[in-house]
Amino acid sequence: MRASDATAIYFARAADQLDLSADMRRLLLTARREVQVQIPVEMDGGELATFIGYRVQHNNARGPMKGGLRYHPQVDLDEVRTLAALMTWKTAVVNIPYGGAKGGVSVDPAKLSLRELERLTRRFVDAIHDLFGPDVDIPAPDLGTTPEVMAWIMNQYGNYHGFAPACVTGKPVEYHGISGRDEATGRGVGSLTVKLLSRLGRRLPGARIAIQGFGNVGSHTARFLKDAECRIVAVSDATAGFHRAEGLDVGDLLRHAQSHGGRLAGFTGGDALSNAELLALDCDVLIPAALGGVITAGNAATVRAPVIVEGANAPVDPEADAILADRGVTVLPDILANAGGVTASWFEWVQNRQHYQWGLNRVRQELDRILGEAFEQVWQLAMSRQVTLRTAAYMVGVGRVARATVLGGIA
Ligand code: NAD
Repeated sequence: MRASDATAIYFARAADQLDLSADMRRLLLTARREVQVQIPVEMDGGELATFIGYRVQHNNARGPMKGGLRYHPQVDLDEVRTLAALMTWKTAVVNIPYGGAKGGVSVDPAKLSLRELERLTRRFVDAIHDLFGPDVDIPAPDLGTTPEVMAWIMNQYGNYHGFAPACVTGKPVEYHGISGRDEATGRGVGSLTVKLLSRLGRRLPGARIAIQGFGNVGSHTARFLKDAECRIVAVSDATAGFHRAEGLDVGDLLRHAQSHGGRLAGFTGGDALSNAELLALDCDVLIPAALGGVITAGNAATVRAPVIVEGANAPVDPEADAILADRGVTVLPDILANAGGVTASWFEWVQNRQHYQWGLNRVRQELDRILGEAFEQVWQLAMSRQVTLRTAAYMVGVGRVARATVLGGIA
């Protein structure tokens, strides 16, 4: 199933619960603006390459549009459009004053030199610089883009519009970025897991956690939950997977990944296990934090964890979601579970606009407060309406955007 179909199903469920009119549904599902641009780039060897770039600005009823920029060979308009809408619902669930957008370039960044990547980024900004900005649409890193790419974006945007660090987030800490952004998504996944376990009346110390993916999200989640006295019993990445019933040593895992180019392969502190085995492991919480579409109708029945927290975007497809719901498995959905990253991006934007720096403790405190409040709202709604946490999260997000649309007026 395509991601766009999944999002449409979740949106429709929430819209039914909210009793939204057909006209409002059509408005909310339609992007404000979709741009496709040509990006000519002179390569290091002197030849000319032409890339295609996209930016979809889905909705700005609640504020400037916000969303990542993806460099990946499979980027296309349909994917970007779906991800842009997801950002609208995500920023609304956590109640930060943004709408949603997404962008990307169809390119394999691994095949470009650093200079080529910089030229590509600057030419892309040349093509869209009058379409984004601090009060309009604020890009951020996503698959294949890094803080360095964000620095080039800020710099090139400044060549047209003057110094404006708030035109993009996820910048290097030494170049108008903030400390705490890097860990924010994983910290949010971890802190929401703790809240969910507490709400479900499950014991926290010693809770057995399995995490798929040990990149930015997976590794920070593991660190947070270990500090919260949980047991990280399994982790995996694209290169390997490991299991230890008494709990893996997260410090050793982090050190191993750091000294092996981010990869887990070669780690010696646990028994090998495959990704399929990890997803079916007997544990208390399963956290898919790598790829989308890993839990499907094909393997949903094998999942033994009673709780799933979606660190990645769309790791559970709608068919699997229904099977898991029937089996009584609680799923904390991506639009809430991994919203810590965009929330910290908002903090970066706020500090850039104030030319002020908060410090790490304040970033963490504000993050925990905002995610905690969002979780409580979603939890209460799920209980009172007897719907899943996913439907409740979409109801909160879609409902807020619909109300802002009405309050702002359409005529
Ligand atoms: P990352 O590139 O830092 O890490 C990805 C991890 O997934 C790596 O450990 C990689 O080895 C692993 N992986 C790749 N293919 C795999 C496979 N077939 N099986 C098992 N593991 C595999 O990416 P990230 O930033 O940690 O993002 C992970 C997910 O979280 C993505 O879905 C992303 O869209 C989502 N997300 C990230 C953020 C953020 O702030 N980084 C925010 C919201 C959502």
